[in-house]
Amino acid sequence: MEKTPLERYVPPAKPSLVGLSRPALAQALGSIGVPERQLDMRVSQIWHWLYVRGAQHFEAMSSVSKDLRAILAANFTLARPQIAAEQISVDGTRKWLLRLPGEHAGENPHEVECVYIPEADRGTLCLSTQVGCTLNCSFCHTGTQRLVRNLTAGEIVGQVLLARDRLGDWPGAKISEGASVPSDGGRLVSNVVMMGMGEPLYNFEAVRDALLIVADGDGISISKRRITLSTSGVVPNIARCGTEIGVMLAVSLHAVRDELRDVLVPLNRKYPIRDLLAACRAYPGLSNARRITFEYVMLEDVNDSLADAKALVRLLAGIPAKINLIPFNPWPGSRYKCSDWDRIERFSEVVFNAGYASPVRTPRGRDILAACGQLKSATEKLSARERLALRAMAMTD
Ligand code: SAH
Ligand code: SF4
Repeated sequence: MEKTPLERYVPPAKPSLVGLSRPALAQALGSIGVPERQLDMRVSQIWHWLYVRGAQHFEAMSSVSKDLRAILAANFTLARPQIAAEQISVDGTRKWLLRLPGEHAGENPHEVECVYIPEADRGTLCLSTQVGCTLNCSFCHTGTQRLVRNLTAGEIVGQVLLARDRLGDWPGAKISEGASVPSDGGRLVSNVVMMGMGEPLYNFEAVRDALLIVADGDGISISKRRITLSTSGVVPNIARCGTEIGVMLAVSLHAVRDELRDVLVPLNRKYPIRDLLAACRAYPGLSNARRITFEYVMLEDVNDSLADAKALVRLLAGIPAKINLIPFNPWPGSRYKCSDWDRIERFSEVVFNAGYASPVRTPRGRDILAACGQLKSATEKLSARERLALRAMAMTD
């Protein structure tokens, strides 16, 4: 039922320094002959250039000696994932299709999508954590993708750098046309959600290492309160998410009965609702100021009755929670329909009257298939014939 992530791919010969923890960066510098006594200082310098100033090339690092810059450039890169395509929605949402570096067996390049969602008071970046997804929720486009590989921490952090490159979101950079600074006066990327392709808690170490870099106060410095990790319910890693990462948690609940959740989120057969909610109650750092968001996708005549709404509030009693109703975003071949607006409003009213904030998530970027659950790598969208043609082309190269 669950897909196993592909391990057999070869990272590029010249590795990128993006996404290395401070100790790993020190080790990398040591390996090219930087003396031990200089390591701390050099790590701080490079960290600052990479994550505060957004340096894309070693030559930009003017506080690092010319000689060392040349040695660094001979051994490492500052590469981010490559942009294969960029789309901008009529509502300002931007979606990047990213090609990941490295060689691997198989015909398709490894690709993920990353989405930027501007709002008046914030700019949210939605990151992917896997090519495809280990799981196969029946309403999710990503779940239908066969190929799965875990992203490295560098590929996850690289999505943030790349978004800031494209948006002009570095000190002194020119802001990209059509983009604007949120009303809090801060940066264009002010929030991060792990809600792109993949199940973050099935790629725990890389996600943890990446988020600790994203939250690092001497670098990108996005507060952990502004980072949300969404999981379909990998119960054994929920507590670790709280203690080892400490970000906000969102849980894709979507159903109030195991029978139905088994179908919508098949992982439920392994970790049923009871166990999932017990892990939520015990989430480290949980309080009224730090609530868990429960996501609930509105599927017509499947999970959207008023009885469901009432059962939902009963189920969550006692957990500091927000409930986020997500209108279902259709994709080619999906078997569900989105509940009509009236039904969503009535559902939301029951939840609201029970004392929960119950925002309905406005679908963003639907015209470019950038909304929740619509992401899927372009190469997987090709027909079998097109894929064969591509393979033939690759063989004659
Ligand atoms: N794998 C993680 C995070 C990525 S999905 C998870 O499942 O939580 C982010 C959110 O989008 C999840 O709540 C997911 O259930 C929801 N989603 C998936 N497909 C969707 C669709 N077609 N329409 C609306 N929401 C969807
Ligand atoms: Fe994977 Fe999340 Fe989609 Fe389920 S909803 S298939 S866990 S990305």
